[in-house]
Amino acid sequence: MSELRVVFLGTSAGRPTPRRSVSAVYLQFGADSVLFDCGEGTQLQVLKAGVRISNLKAICITHFHGDHINGLPGFLGTVGLNGHRDRMVLAAPRGMDRYLAVLRELSILNPSFELDLVQNSVGMVYANEDYTIETTKLDHRVPAYGFIFRERDLVGRFDLQKAMEMGIEPGPVFGRLQRGETITLEDGRQVRPEDVLGPTRKGRSVAYITDTRPSATVVEAVAGVDILIHEATYLSGLRDQAMARKHSTVSEAAMVAREAGVKQLILTHISPKHTSGRDILREAKAIFPESYLAEDFSEFVLPVPE
Ligand SMILES: [Zn+2]
Ligand SMILES: [Zn+2]
Repeated sequence: MSELRVVFLGTSAGRPTPRRSVSAVYLQFGADSVLFDCGEGTQLQVLKAGVRISNLKAICITHFHGDHINGLPGFLGTVGLNGHRDRMVLAAPRGMDRYLAVLRELSILNPSFELDLVQNSVGMVYANEDYTIETTKLDHRVPAYGFIFRERDLVGRFDLQKAMEMGIEPGPVFGRLQRGETITLEDGRQVRPEDVLGPTRKGRSVAYITDTRPSATVVEAVAGVDILIHEATYLSGLRDQAMARKHSTVSEAAMVAREAGVKQLILTHISPKHTSGRDILREAKAIFPESYLAEDFSEFVLPVPE
């Protein structure tokens, strides 16, 4: 069963501080990994965090503000120098093709692997048999997209006791039943998967939503996710600034979490103006108790569904 782990590489808004680097979140699922945003210094944060990027399947860029993308050329260059050869999805708003063309033309970047570019789309940007990554539109000063990672639902747990009672001998038939096959025993009895498997288990899900005003579109898109990572640039006292710059306050992020019925909210993209984590958590928990504040290198693990 695959481990699902989220590691924050950068949690500051706009510019780095001595404690917080700019936006980047690493997600590991089994042997695969995915990177959300790539602010300046992300490659160094990857080294410091000790996370593995040899099996990176996708880089998902929310928007073209510098604090979300300025680390990309250096990061891709290093991935290439590390010997990466597999294709990789690069999801970003429209314009990424022009950006990459200029980087190539000026010899700033010449990746040794294929980038599958997915631009400006709402819908699926990556899918394999274990999980999918889809986008949702955000409400920011420039075109911006959030991303939702969803593990596909898992078959129910195998009920060994029940299988033995039905006279099924342990062996390859267990695997066939788990894969959904109906089998016929030697005495002619048929056993269906649902006879020996528990209920289907809901796959785990993680949403990455930054930068944005609180939005009904987002509430709908992230409904019920296990982890909602949402920007919370300002405390409520600076709501005017949040509105003018199209960001969310801590309270607004917490209200999105509550309305969407998510399991946990993790706040990130914190303005360098705010240095007290206590104030941020107090404001969030008053609305949504399962709130956490991301620090650089904070790690969250989602256990395999029961
Ligand atoms: Zn930002
Ligand atoms: Zn922005």
